[in-house]
This record gives sequence, C-alpha cells and structure tokens, in this order.
Amino acid sequence: MAPDDPRRLIPRTDHLLDLPPVRRARHRLSETVIRSLVDETQQRARRGEIASHEVAPAVLAAVAARSATTLTPVLNATGVIVHTNLGRAPLSEAAVEALVAASGYVDVELDLATGTRTRTRGAAARAALLAACPAAEDALVVNNGAAALVLATTALAAGREVVISRGELVEIGAGFRLPELIQSTGARLHEVGTTNRTHLHDYAQAIGPDTGCLLKVHPSNFRLQGFTSAVEVDQLHPLARTHGIPLVADLGSGLLHPDPLLPAEPDVTSALSGGADAVIISGDKLLGGPQAGVVLGRSDVVARMARHPLARAVRADKLALAALEATLAGGSPPVAQALHADPDRLRGRVERLAAAVGAPVVPHEGRVGGGGAPGVPLPGWALRLPEAAAPALRAGDPAVLPRVHDHACLIDLRCVPEADDDRLLAAVRAALAAVADDGGSE
Ligand SMILES: *Cc1c(COP(=O)(O)O)cnc(C)c1O
Repeated sequence: MAPDDPRRLIPRTDHLLDLPPVRRARHRLSETVIRSLVDETQQRARRGEIASHEVAPAVLAAVAARSATTLTPVLNATGVIVHTNLGRAPLSEAAVEALVAASGYVDVELDLATGTRTRTRGAAARAALLAACPAAEDALVVNNGAAALVLATTALAAGREVVISRGELVEIGAGFRLPELIQSTGARLHEVGTTNRTHLHDYAQAIGPDTGCLLKVHPSNFRLQGFTSAVEVDQLHPLARTHGIPLVADLGSGLLHPDPLLPAEPDVTSALSGGADAVIISGDKLLGGPQAGVVLGRSDVVARMARHPLARAVRADKLALAALEATLAGGSPPVAQALHADPDRLRGRVERLAAAVGAPVVPHEGRVGGGGAPGVPLPGWALRLPEAAAPALRAGDPAVLPRVHDHACLIDLRCVPEADDDRLLAAVRAALAAVADDGGSE
C-alpha cells in the first residue's frame, strides 16, 4: 500500500470495537457478530465503496440496525392462513406470554410442593388437550407431526407391516414423502387398493400375522375427483377391532371438532368416535399453536408410543409444551380468528385502506393453507395495487407479503391483525411512493 493510499486511513479494529455505542451493544450482540460487522465495514472501505472517514459512522449504523435474530416479522396479506413459508400458525397472546414465562427456569419436571422430580413432563399440555378433546383417553405431545407419525409406526409396526391405501401415499411438501418416512422406521408398507379406489375388502385381504397397524392418512394438499372411493375410519374400525390391530389416523391439519366452514376437513373428535385408536395432528396448522405433533387416542396405544425409546428423541421442548397449553387454554388463536373473520368487518377494513390510498377493492378468496381444506375458498376482499408494489412491500418495514396474481398485487386483510392496520397502511403508502419514484426516474 502506498503511503498516500487513502485505505491507510481506515480506522483500526480495536479503535472501532472501543467506540462507546459498540461497547454498549455487547449486552445484546455477541462478540462474533460485532466483530463481523466491523470487519465487513472495513472491507467495504478497502474496496473503495465508502471513504475512510465513513467507516466509524457505518459501523455504528450497522451495530444499531443489527439484532440478535435475523428473522424478519412479516404482515401476512396473502389471505392464506397457515402459510408454510411464513412459519405456519402465528401464536395467540396467551401462547406468547407462556413462551416468555417458560423461557427461564420452570417446573417442567419438578413438583414444587415436595421439591422432587416428577415424571409427568408435559402433563399440563396433556390435560389441556384432553379438556379440549374429551373424546380422547390420553394425549402425547412430540416435536412435530412427522415425528408423531414416525413414533406411531415405529412403536406399533417396526419390523412389521403398515397397511395403507395407495391413494394415501402422498408427498406433503418440501420433498417430504410419507411412504419414505414410514419405511425409514423399519416398518414395511403393505399397499392396498389403487390410486383412485380402495375398498374395505382390500384392507381385509392385507391383514395377516405381520400386520402392525392400519394407517389412514389425510392426503392434505390434494384431492382426488371423479371415479374414486376410499374407506373411512368408521368403516375400518370393525376390521381393526376384530383382528386386534391398532387403527391410526394421520389427519395432519388438526381440527379438534368439526367446523361448519370446512365440511370436508377431518377432525379429531369424529375420527376418535369413528373408532381410530390414535389420531395424529400438527400443533401449528389449524390448531393454531406452536410446532408440535399431537397424538390423541386410546390410553394403551398412546402409552405404547410414550414408552418407546424413540419418544425421547422426538420429545417436545418446554417452550412448545407451554405454548401449546396456552393455545388451548387461552383466547381464540389468530388462526381461528382469521378462519372465522366476519366478512363485513374485513370489507370495512379494506375499504378504509382503499380510501386512504385511492386504490380499488376487489373480491378475493383466502385459503386455509398448510395442506388444510384444499380448494376451499374463504370469501373476502383485497386491495388491488399495481404488481410493481409487491417487491417494495416485501422489502418494507414492516415487511408485507401480498399475493401476486394476474399481474396485480393483492392485499388481503384476513390474516393481518386489526391492530396492525395503521402499520400496514403506512407500508402500503411507502411502497406506492417507491413505485412512483421508480416510474418517474425511468
Ligand atoms: C402436515 C402433515 C404432516 C406433517 O406434520 P408436521 O407437523 O409438518 O411435521 C403429516 N401428515 C399430514 C397428513 C400432514 O398434513
């Protein structure tokens, strides 16, 4: 480097690390993160992107802007309630409070009265599940729905056969194929029927000394139409009982009771009263809680799963247990509110937004998402903006995810909490201004 090279003037690392705001940031950011921000800023100066005298202010700005998590909260304006790319179910206020409370030391495995260890980890979540779903004798909470399915097939059928309809050998999303998952447990698939039609006698013929369990899987995100037939849980029940074989139903989405809005969506109570011995659902789909896999069913079958060594490897953490209990015991979770949102109220909110920015309101159908109630429209409205507003909205603060459809950027308020309407309006205004600026400079 030549003596007059301006890069010689780049502030040294120890000087930058010692700036008072950088020192104060150490209670919220790790040394590694702080050093990397300093290093990146010096590199920018070495590449000539900023001048040497701009390095210290740039470090201060970078440190101030950085938080310990880089996940960005997003306003979900897509109308899709259980949005897989947005982390599925947003938690209720009660669940958020429970998460925070459980983040410290908690009595998750301690009896405070005696000071001794309890073996009832998860008892409170279990009790809340049984209170919400009295048709179940027992409940078990594990890490997620896929883990519950792995645990069920391992505990009930490892080294033996899982009898399943060919119409239910589905890929659920992100390359997650149910048959591969089941086979990974050492259980063998005994496929019955055909892709479009499976009959009770197909199941009956498949049952033998090697049968570990009968499995019904709700094919979530797709529907068979036309010449189809499937055997429902209540039809399978007598067959399973006669042979003393457990009947497991993986419902996926997780309604505890029938919902008149979603007539075709299976629910836990109906599956149990139809004779399922164990029902599997996800905690963070229509149940509206944290990521979890929930098994509800007959106590002997649930106990076989809970006792299996694999149960320890897929157990739910204290945060999920706390949030799940609070989801069930607290006020209606956001997922339920979005599903049952009053259409007139939604319309009033979107019209207020439309009037404020001078854009039209159009009819727009929301969706359950996350594999729930595929194809069932949830009638509502959206604000219609130019398509070019979408990237600006996603990059904004708060970040807003609109639906881009038919060359338009649609803002559906179904999944936006009403308390966020003003923040959303500000974000829409900022995005429209950014689009107008871009248009002007072209
Ligand atoms: C979503 C789903 C799963 C997987 O549950 P995760 O909680 O995502 O692990 C399993 N089976 C069905 C039918 C599903 O819909």
